[in-house]
Amino acid sequence: MSAVVHRVEVLRGVSPSRLSKRLTGALVAAVWRRAKIVVIELGTSDRLAVQPRFTGALLVNAPPGDQYAALAFSLTDGRTLTYRDVRRLGTVALLRPGAWAALEAGLGPEPLDPALDGSRFSRLLAASRRPIKVRLMDQRALAGIGNIYATEALWRAGIDPSRAAASVSTTEAVTLLRALREILSASIAARGTTFRDYRDAYGGRGGYAAHLQAYGRAGEPCARCGHPLAGTSAIDGRMTAFCAWCQR
Ligand SMILES: [Zn+2]
Repeated sequence: MSAVVHRVEVLRGVSPSRLSKRLTGALVAAVWRRAKIVVIELGTSDRLAVQPRFTGALLVNAPPGDQYAALAFSLTDGRTLTYRDVRRLGTVALLRPGAWAALEAGLGPEPLDPALDGSRFSRLLAASRRPIKVRLMDQRALAGIGNIYATEALWRAGIDPSRAAASVSTTEAVTLLRALREILSASIAARGTTFRDYRDAYGGRGGYAAHLQAYGRAGEPCARCGHPLAGTSAIDGRMTAFCAWCQR
């Protein structure tokens, strides 16, 4: 593959010339995800680690001439892979295996990993006095959960998002882990949650926004008990919708 850099500010730890040198002739061996990072593993064992954050997207065969294209990769099979980012808050790093391992060592388990059982999940909640919503989104404790899925899982599990993580009982933790998994699996099946910017690799919108019960619904009736959902930004500075009646 080869790369053209349009927006150097998305690169981390690599210059455009070094990136192009290390990519030339390299083949993509595998593409996978860990936490909120898309990892493009090359035959050279280098890893391109893409963190799209709020408005980034990796697109296959995107139309040319896009003013938001930050990086464009030409693949040897003739396709293009574009990293597009409207606000350019996302990042692309080129890492050797050791640097990737160091980064990964700081990440918590994946919520969908079967090795994460209820008791391990309960222990990682018990280690923090911070609000349960903040703990769920702490990538060092549990990887991959952001504002939308934390808000949804806590609503589904009937847990008040402002409660101390350590106050969540083992039974509640098991319910919460099940809620997280159901929501993530349903969202993956719907190809994600698009409000405005999120796109899949082929430019399509994710359909899970229509299934959200709490996120973005402050003021609307709770689907479980009918009382209006509350909204607060006091927990983590971001808007959290919850039901003060049936989330305890
Ligand atoms: Zn309710």
